Amino acid sequence: CGIFAYLNFNISRERRYILEVLFNGLRRLEYRGYDSAGICIDSSLNSSNADVVAKPLVFRQEGNIESLVKSVYQEVAATDLNLEESFSIHAGIAHTRWATHGEPAPRNSHPQASDAGNEFLVVHNGVITNYEVLKETLVRHGFTFESETDTEVIPKLAKFVFDNANEEGDKSVTFSQVVLEVMRHLEGAYALIFKSRHYPNELIACKRGSPLLLGVKELTEEANRASFNDPKSLSSNGQPKELFLSSDASALVEHTKKVLVIEDGEVVHLKDGGVSIFKFDHTKGKCGGTLTRPAS
Ligand code: GLU
Repeated sequence: CGIFAYLNFNISRERRYILEVLFNGLRRLEYRGYDSAGICIDSSLNSSNADVVAKPLVFRQEGNIESLVKSVYQEVAATDLNLEESFSIHAGIAHTRWATHGEPAPRNSHPQASDAGNEFLVVHNGVITNYEVLKETLVRHGFTFESETDTEVIPKLAKFVFDNANEEGDKSVTFSQVVLEVMRHLEGAYALIFKSRHYPNELIACKRGSPLLLGVKELTEEANRASFNDPKSLSSNGQPKELFLSSDASALVEHTKKVLVIEDGEVVHLKDGGVSIFKFDHTKGKCGGTLTRPAS
């Protein structure tokens, strides 16, 4: 029922700080109602030019935000995860769930994952109405499902598209190409945020029918005072920035006044400190094979 993401660029933030920003985002979204919550952060420093990075960490919990917070800190203590480790760039995602498909339980909480290696992770608000046929097809292609949610087909579709593109020799398939191809298959209402091990420090968000906002906080006073010149393409000028995505303005106002409402059919790509926003076009392009192709 609420989605939130935080990306810091060219500014050093400790893991503890990143966690707290995500938790606070979720606390602001709590009033919308929820039955479970979850987050995903990175397990180690990511180099942006790595092909694939260490498996992202996912924490999911039934109940309120504070029980998620408690379980995350318990797990952190048990695993010696360093809260002081700092990241000059990092992308984290978070979710509060109001179950529509599948009972409230950790396995049904978001982020939902493509596979055990967490190659693609998705937080979702809304309902995918054609998930049953997508699920059936993905199962035929060898995917196994862990949850009863409608959402789980989304990260799995992303993996399917990515793997097919790679098999077909398209090693340069971009994160936005993968997401656009996934969107071509989805029916229903959604606001989505994607994170991927294959595209470290990038996030993609898109929406149809459910609300989504982008918040930009530039860290020099001057940049922060200036209004958006062209909000649809905020260049990656190397300046330190913090970028936020949220289903609700209440989670953004404490960080920035620079808030942009994303429209239906728009896709937001956060990469290298820049923002590009483009329209999804059903009729255009295809990458990563087709879902109807028989499994080999
Ligand atoms: N339909 C999804 C689920 O049941 C998302 C629900 C929501 O918007 O929180 O998991």
